[in-house]
Amino acid sequence: MSKLNLTCLLSPMADTEGPMDIVNGKALTGPKKIMGKYGEIGLETAITFGEQNPNTLHTDILSVGRQKEVTTLQQSAIAMFQPAKHPGTLGVHALYMDDIDDKDGFEVAGILVAMINKLENKPDLIFSGRESFDYGHGVVGPSVARQLGYPYYSGVKDIALKEGITSVTATFEEGNDKMVMDIPLPAVFGTTDWLNGKDSARFTSLKGVMMAKKFKRTIVDAGSLDIAGSASKTVIQSIAPVMSERKNRKLEGDEGPALAKKAVDVLVNQDKALAASAAGGGYGSTSEAAINWTDAASLDFSGDVVVIGDHDGTVVRKSTHQALSQARKIADITGKQVSLFILAGNVESLGAGAAGFGADRVIGLESNHFVHPTLDAYAHCLDQLFTAPPAFLVTVANDFGRDLASYMATFFGGGLLQDVVALDLTDNKLTGSRIVSNARYTTRETITVDGCQVVSVRATAFDPVAREEAPAYFKMAPGDISPNASIREIVSGEQSRGIPLNEAKIIVSGGRGMKAAENFKHLHSLSDLLGGAVGASRAVTDLDWVAHNLQIGQTGTTVAPDIYFAIGISGAIQHLTGMLGSKYVVAINPDADAPIHTHADLSIIDKWENILEPFTEEIKGVLGK
Ligand SMILES: Cc1cc2nc3c(=O)[nH]c(=O)nc-3n(C[C@H](O)[C@H](O)[C@H](O)COP(=O)(O)OP(=O)(O)OC[C@H]3O[C@@H](n4cnc5c(N)ncnc54)[C@H](O)[C@@H]3O)c2cc1C
Repeated sequence: MSKLNLTCLLSPMADTEGPMDIVNGKALTGPKKIMGKYGEIGLETAITFGEQNPNTLHTDILSVGRQKEVTTLQQSAIAMFQPAKHPGTLGVHALYMDDIDDKDGFEVAGILVAMINKLENKPDLIFSGRESFDYGHGVVGPSVARQLGYPYYSGVKDIALKEGITSVTATFEEGNDKMVMDIPLPAVFGTTDWLNGKDSARFTSLKGVMMAKKFKRTIVDAGSLDIAGSASKTVIQSIAPVMSERKNRKLEGDEGPALAKKAVDVLVNQDKALAASAAGGGYGSTSEAAINWTDAASLDFSGDVVVIGDHDGTVVRKSTHQALSQARKIADITGKQVSLFILAGNVESLGAGAAGFGADRVIGLESNHFVHPTLDAYAHCLDQLFTAPPAFLVTVANDFGRDLASYMATFFGGGLLQDVVALDLTDNKLTGSRIVSNARYTTRETITVDGCQVVSVRATAFDPVAREEAPAYFKMAPGDISPNASIREIVSGEQSRGIPLNEAKIIVSGGRGMKAAENFKHLHSLSDLLGGAVGASRAVTDLDWVAHNLQIGQTGTTVAPDIYFAIGISGAIQHLTGMLGSKYVVAINPDADAPIHTHADLSIIDKWENILEPFTEEIKGVLGK
């Protein structure tokens, strides 16, 4: 390859932080259309790539949507790119579609694939903003990748072209470690985070804007594309604003100790929030019972409800049990059996934790490729295993589980509900509720197509349901797994201590207002006392004050503890997205106008320096410690 062809999928998105309208009860839009943050990250990376690899790079920008919105968006993209100054070449392709809001992520992905197939320069590297196009939590990128037969990677932090330009070296976060991979091209990357140490996109100059207006874009004729096979697989039944049911009590004006005393009184005696959870602790689920695995050459999963287990290599996570509660519900309605798949380096220690939550069968699949799991390795295995699609496939809606759900739904040709917080089955079709647009709206969506129904469940929305029946255990060969990419190195990071965030009943979270890493010891004191876990905002993890896997929010962990303490956190929408499911929220922040207070049950309007110590002492008294 002498030249690298890069493609950016860029969509105009309604500004979810601004006013939004519900159209016909089924579509969300807003007066201001912007370049989605994630799409902007992909574009900035593409431009920088070209600058770093002069004359070896051609970039294509592809957009679908309403004419005016696509035109404005693409002019901004061209202004950023500045073709006259850029050492690479640029093609900008627009497909105008007025009914874009009626299409789901699969249909948009099919249209984009048709556009890609018509490109003169076949892409080697595609960047797709992770939640672009459909607010669908990452349907488009994996679906485009799957249709093109390219591997898909999301969550990349650093990316560099290797010599010979046939592969890239990419770094990903895995828990708190870093995984460096060599990835042969072609490949698709779903962008979520600024890459290569950047923290913003370049500004557009007036000269750039003038240049953009003159730049000749290609207007694609829909009739020239082969899009007959791309249809929506879900329909939005309704959209409604999320209503806040917070108590919104505000305490202020007293000296620290007096304020702390009042706050503990509200928490414990008036709202009775602490009494219920004071035992704290995490989620105890594993048993040490020995498992008898039966070797099976082949098993039929075609009528099953299959769950892809979530685990850390040694322990099956609570999220798997939460997902199983929904799989069991579907199985009980339809009379099907639940098969739980555990893909791991070694399944022995995971068997016991897989029991007791509704699985009829546990299928263990062992391979070294599952030790540091990639979508590619999982898909290689699952593609071979499912000689016929299962009736339902359930994954946990973390980043990996959502990508996998989208990837497998595309493979099976079935429908997908992503990141559901409620799930029903009517007339043998799944309907799910989803929280969208920066946690401001809830949608109800139904699968409309026949075939395998795939669903990723937001685990924190569901309680595990214990069952006495023991599952049958089978070990199967994972098939021929030859993922494209190879792991070059794993860089161990500082490990967080204590209970995993998504299993903690109490979370004490700190933000930039904590002022320094060493001040997190105060949060640990309170958290240890309550048997909880410490979390953080992204401002804090970006500053390396705490381990990265403590980040809560849109690009971190989604949590729903009994009590969430937000201390020195402003309440940016990306943070709120990850913690609004908490049952009770306590905010400590001296800025009475900080958005976090709108989402708190109990707000203490003061500095943590005045409150935390007396507050912790009061709690000690209440707990008799
Ligand atoms: C694409 C994208 C994804 C993102 N994903 C996430 C995510 O997953 N999670 C996340 O958290 N953010 C995320 N962010 C960042 C987010 O927009 C905010 O920048 C971030 O949440 C701010 O963190 P903060 O509240 O700690 O800091 P700030 O916004 O700086 O707020 C600090 C707060 O501390 C208060 N304070 C100051 N002194 C004290 C004191 N002595 N005592 C008590 N309070 C005090 C201040 O009043 C202020 O309200 C994302 C951003 C983007 C663009």
